[in-house]
Amino acid sequence: MEWKQYEDIKVVKIAVNPLFPLMSVYLYFVDGMLVDTGPRIQKRNLKGIFPSWDIKQVALTHSHEDHTGMASWIAKHTDAEIFCHEEMVREANEKARIPWYRELFVGPRFAFSPKPFPDSIRTQAHTFYPIHTPGHTKDHVCLLEPNKGWLFTGDLYITPYPKVFMKEESISGYIESIKKLNTYDYQTVFCGHEGIIRNGKEMMTRKLAYLQKTRNEIIRMNRLGYTEREISKQMFPENVRLEKITFGSFSRMNLIRSCLRNN
Ligand SMILES: [Zn+2]
Repeated sequence: MEWKQYEDIKVVKIAVNPLFPLMSVYLYFVDGMLVDTGPRIQKRNLKGIFPSWDIKQVALTHSHEDHTGMASWIAKHTDAEIFCHEEMVREANEKARIPWYRELFVGPRFAFSPKPFPDSIRTQAHTFYPIHTPGHTKDHVCLLEPNKGWLFTGDLYITPYPKVFMKEESISGYIESIKKLNTYDYQTVFCGHEGIIRNGKEMMTRKLAYLQKTRNEIIRMNRLGYTEREISKQMFPENVRLEKITFGSFSRMNLIRSCLRNN
């Protein structure tokens, strides 16, 4: 686990699994508000730092267990209010049903009782505006601090050039969400897996252009009669590591199919 200070934000980088330090998740704590909680499997490390922070609010960017795994611990040990998108409220009240290998790797996500995001979250020095940004998941939310130009993006950004998707990811969702975000004034992106991106808006704009171009090309090839496999071979000829290590949960085919569906 590493941590640093960026302006008045505490930035914690922690491995998604302690045995595989290559994949990390970032937590951000600013002025009483914690953005995402980290995975349950890191309980031992995280319960060492949470009590030293005076957590008043928790903002969950989306339901995935690497972001929400410690929410039940926080609910039990602090008085913090926990917020998430309204679509996630009901499922949070039960233990998450996740594939066995994900639970093994990241730990379980036990039940907790969050509230739907209010229009804004006020802390002593800041106001954060939750913006619904489906694409990665349906319940995904980014948090904007307009005075600072900060945008907490959960898993919406990660890379400008994704080649693999999970089944439930939606390329149209990403495109519309980034278009929506880009109507706001922001600069710095705080990503759930990549940390701080200072030219965040520029990188998000690159991602938007890449996604639009990729979707157009895949639709064009499909209209010309190429099969999904042929499209995959032509568009993404190289093996993608994430595809193997996630047993195909992330795949090029999922991305292609998302381009060919209308949602
Ligand atoms: Zn996620």
